Amino acid sequence: PRAVRLAARPHGLPTTSTWSVEGIALDPLADGEFLVKVSHISVDPAMRGWLRDVPSYIEPVAVGDIMRANAIGQVVESRHAGFSVGDAVVGLFGVTEFAVSDGTGVTRAHLDVADAPTWLGALGMTGLTAHHGLAQVGQLRGGETVLISAAAGAVGSVAGQLAAAKGCRVIGLAAGEEKARWLRTIGFDEVIDYRDDDLAARIGAAAPEGVGIFFDNVGGAVLDAGLANLARGARVVICGAISQYNEEGPVAGPSNYMALLVRRARMQGFLVFDYPALDEAAMADLVELYRSGRLIARETVIDGTVDDFGDTLLRLFDGRNTGKLVLKIS
Ligand code: NDP
Repeated sequence: PRAVRLAARPHGLPTTSTWSVEGIALDPLADGEFLVKVSHISVDPAMRGWLRDVPSYIEPVAVGDIMRANAIGQVVESRHAGFSVGDAVVGLFGVTEFAVSDGTGVTRAHLDVADAPTWLGALGMTGLTAHHGLAQVGQLRGGETVLISAAAGAVGSVAGQLAAAKGCRVIGLAAGEEKARWLRTIGFDEVIDYRDDDLAARIGAAAPEGVGIFFDNVGGAVLDAGLANLARGARVVICGAISQYNEEGPVAGPSNYMALLVRRARMQGFLVFDYPALDEAAMADLVELYRSGRLIARETVIDGTVDDFGDTLLRLFDGRNTGKLVLKIS
C-alpha cells in the first residue's frame, strides 16, 4: 500500500515538493487492532495549519510522517472485539490506502443512511463544526440575521441550513454565481460575492437590522466587513480564517474590533472537539434533518489515488469545491 508523507514544510501554498508518495509496510495486527482499507479522504483547510511548526491546538505533522487526515473506510481484518470485518469506520487514518487502528477516536458510518462522503461532511466533522459553532458559540435562536462566510463550503453550507431551519434570515458570502444559485436553493436568503467592491456596505444593505450571528470561516478583510455590521449583542463565531492560512507573516487583524464595544458584541473562537458531551445529540440532530430532507449534503468528490492529494488540497484555497471536499481512493 501507498501513503503520502510530509516531505518538507511549505512556505505559502503547498507545492509538489511538500509531499512524497511512498510504499508503506504494514505490521501484522496485534490484539485489539484492526486494518482499514481507506475509501475516501477528507480534505480540510486545517491541514495547512498542521504543516506549520508552531504551537497550536494539536502537534504539527512531523516531516517524514504520513499526512494526518480524517478518512472513511472499511474494516478488512480485525483482532478488535468492537470492530468486525465489513464495518464502515471514520477516523484519523491519514492520507493512506490502508491504516492500522486500535479504535481510538474511531466512529461508525451508517451507509444505509448516507453515502461515505457525507459521513466526512454534513454528517461528519464539518457538520458537527457547524452545529456546535452555531448552537454553542453563536447561541443560535430564531428571528436573527445570520451572516456566514465561505458559505458554499462544507461547514458554511451546513451552518446556513441550520440557521434557516431555526427561522433566521441567512446571508452567505461566496465567490461566483454558481455557488450563489445553489445556496439560494438550500435556504440562504441572500448571497453576496465577497470579492465585490465595498463588501461592508453590501452586507449592510442585506442586513438593515444588523447581524446577530456572524459565523466566520475566512478572517482578514471579510471579518472586518462583518464586524462593521453587527447588531447589538451580536456573537461573532471564529470558526476559521482560511484567507490567512498560507500567509507567511502575521495574520491580518480586525481593524473594526471596536464594533464589539459599540454593539456590546462578543467574538469567540472554538474547536469542533470542545463539546464531546454534546456530540451525540448534535449528530442525531444532523442525521434527523438529513433524513427528513431539511439538510442537503453536498460533496465535491475527486476520483483519484493518494497521488492526487496535493492537488486536491489546493482546491480549497481557490474555491474549486462546493460543499465538502473529498478525495476518493480508487
Ligand atoms: P470549505 O469547504 O469552506 O472550503 C474552503 C472555501 O473557502 C473555498 O471553497 C472558498 O470558497 C473559500 N476561500 C478560500 N480561500 C478564500 C479567501 N482567501 N477568501 C475568502 N474565501 C476563501 O472548507 P471547510 O468547510 O472545511 O472549512 C471552512 C472553515 O472552517 C475553514 O476556515 C476551516 O479551517 C474551518 N474549520 C474549523 C473547525 C473548527 O473546529 N473550528 C473545524 C472544521 C473547519 P469561495 O469559492 O466562496 O471563495
